[in-house]
Amino acid sequence: MILHYGRATLIACILLLHLPAAHSGQARPIPLANGAQGCLTLANLLGSIAVEDCAVVDFGIAGTGTVQHRPILIGDFPATRTPPVDKRPARVLLLGGVHGDEYSAVSIQFRWAERLARDSRRRYEWRMIPCLNPDGLLAGPATRTNANGVDLNRNFPTLEWATRALPYWTEQTGRDPRRYPGPSAASEPEVQWLVDEIERFDPDVIVSVHAPLGILDFDGPPPPPQQLGMLNLDRLGAYPGSLGNYAGRTLAIPVLTPELQYAGIMPTNQQIAGMWDDLIEWLDEHIGEQDRVLPPRPVLPDWNLLLAPPENLLLRP
Ligand SMILES: [Zn+2]
Repeated sequence: MILHYGRATLIACILLLHLPAAHSGQARPIPLANGAQGCLTLANLLGSIAVEDCAVVDFGIAGTGTVQHRPILIGDFPATRTPPVDKRPARVLLLGGVHGDEYSAVSIQFRWAERLARDSRRRYEWRMIPCLNPDGLLAGPATRTNANGVDLNRNFPTLEWATRALPYWTEQTGRDPRRYPGPSAASEPEVQWLVDEIERFDPDVIVSVHAPLGILDFDGPPPPPQQLGMLNLDRLGAYPGSLGNYAGRTLAIPVLTPELQYAGIMPTNQQIAGMWDDLIEWLDEHIGEQDRVLPPRPVLPDWNLLLAPPENLLLRP
């Protein structure tokens, strides 16, 4: 199926999906041991991912799956440039599909994978998670939330979660079911896994793609880019339980959140290239290589403590 990129019509929006009736929520879960099959499932659903795209990346899968036991795919692109002897390559985590109904945020990962695979002089170590929420993507129709009805981007164990997440949901969103933060911090297997994965991979930068606000959000140090391609910087602030709040403010890892213009229409090839070039330029200017011996990250309370009632929390001032 050919997707005519950038044709801003309802038809194009429909074209981004292959026949959704064949991918209902009742579809059998994919065996957890098979990353290639998991990729083909995405390619069969999304017209903007070709079957051949799955040959570009040798996907592994997360140790744990989703609520419905689907695999979460992980692709690695190691650095190929040798850094100075006292330095190591910086690590960049690329993330898509936190919200299952934002198709373009998943598909763009495969366009970036092509670029990474072609690049024979990679300066950084890249880890790609093209879809954190495959249950939402494959729900037929796709949902923002995971299979438990939780907005994963409100479920990360930010320090104020226990006191602020549910009141914020009630007072600021009117209990919008698309923004339900869950019964407790990191209650969802997808979030628990990503929290652990961030600790394992220890990224220096996280890029988490969403849609359709058409802006660039940013959390954490250092100075943000003023734009990524067609997306201009517009900082949205911190939501209780968001990844930007958790990683950017709690862990002090810079989080770039490109919000593509459309959830169901891909950016043009030129726009995708512009975003990528600006990302690389910002990484080269502000991240570069990292010292081999890093100061330890700030010690945080175990996120399990955040499950406790607020009066029992042992938070540092
Ligand atoms: Zn989103």
